[in-house]
Amino acid sequence: MVDEYVRRTAVTRLSVRDEQRELLEATIDAYRDGCQIAADIAWPEKKSKRDIHPLAYDSIRNDTELTSQHAILATHQAAEAIASCHERRSKGLKTSKPVFTAPTVTYDTRTMTLFEDDTVSLSTVGGRIRCPLVLPEDDDGYQWQFIENERWEMTESTLTARDGAYYLHMGFRRFRTEREREANQETAEDGTVLGVDVGVNNLAVTSTGLFVSGGELTHWQNEYEKRRGSLQRTGTRWAHENIQSVGRKENGRCTILLHEASNVILEEARENDCTHLAFEDLTDIRERLPHATWHHRWAFRKLFAFVSYKAVEDGITVRQVNPQYTSRKCSYTDCGFTHVDNRDGDSFECLKCGYAIDADYNAAKNIAVKYAKKLRRSHMPSDGGVSVDIPLNSGSLTVEGSTTVVVA
Ligand SMILES: [Zn+2]
Repeated sequence: MVDEYVRRTAVTRLSVRDEQRELLEATIDAYRDGCQIAADIAWPEKKSKRDIHPLAYDSIRNDTELTSQHAILATHQAAEAIASCHERRSKGLKTSKPVFTAPTVTYDTRTMTLFEDDTVSLSTVGGRIRCPLVLPEDDDGYQWQFIENERWEMTESTLTARDGAYYLHMGFRRFRTEREREANQETAEDGTVLGVDVGVNNLAVTSTGLFVSGGELTHWQNEYEKRRGSLQRTGTRWAHENIQSVGRKENGRCTILLHEASNVILEEARENDCTHLAFEDLTDIRERLPHATWHHRWAFRKLFAFVSYKAVEDGITVRQVNPQYTSRKCSYTDCGFTHVDNRDGDSFECLKCGYAIDADYNAAKNIAVKYAKKLRRSHMPSDGGVSVDIPLNSGSLTVEGSTTVVVA
């Protein structure tokens, strides 16, 4: 069934004072506990909100400091998690009781109010707090079109803590217009893309600014290479057999590291509600990353394979895009200036607009934009009904029509 609403998410950072920070942290902990209490009680058979609410509400209220409305939202969240477990199971996939670890809290219109002065009031375990939204100064910020336009109404939002900062993923919706309903393409879905750049120093960097270090992997690869080297010099049959055993150990340890890395990337994709994950095409990686050893290239392919097959369970599509210019192109707003000298090792500085940024992060953003544009073209050849969001380190970027709106 087609949703009668168009839904969008606007991401923004919150400005939080120290005493508010404590309340938010306590609320995040309590909410996580609340969701877990509900899931523990309801697992495995109950799955609807209606089933879980009466069972778990009192326990949550007794055992946490959550407000009554947040206790209800926690039961809903547990119900959704359990329902998606049942869905996975019905597809023959493995599933187990949901475990809540993410530092997030769901807000609805009863627990959060957006004011005209661009502040929000949030319900916490210690009463309401009011925080300013950190929005882009210019009116181009894509968030404004939702915040300032009465056609859009707020729905559920998610508060997320990351690296000591707090982000609000504000949910908005508006009714589909007549024309949109007529167009009604099944394929014309909104998408959210996470771009992933792979490399030697950073095994992976995402377009949301998540850095997955390649240090440990490189360390162990060097270590095993050394062991192999000294065994090779020994030259005995015993040494030969040991070289093979070193290879197996290396494989095992590196595979574990790559599994962990793939989990971190997928968690990032889920946290940002991504529908698509874009990697660069790894075919010519040898030419593009001359410093990468065969170990690294093996690791990139393995990482991509892990992410691809794990993403299926989350319904996230994983694709590769042509990496041409992704490392040389400026990813700032409409700049797009492309020059080989923009990049100098780990750092990127645009020769035209001066935009300075980590080189891998710049590439990850370009990979995401490239894929988002491709996605749009494949959905909508003619007009601008579909938008593809790209969440960034702060703010996000929307590819709509032929333009890319960036909020850095
Ligand atoms: Zn530039």
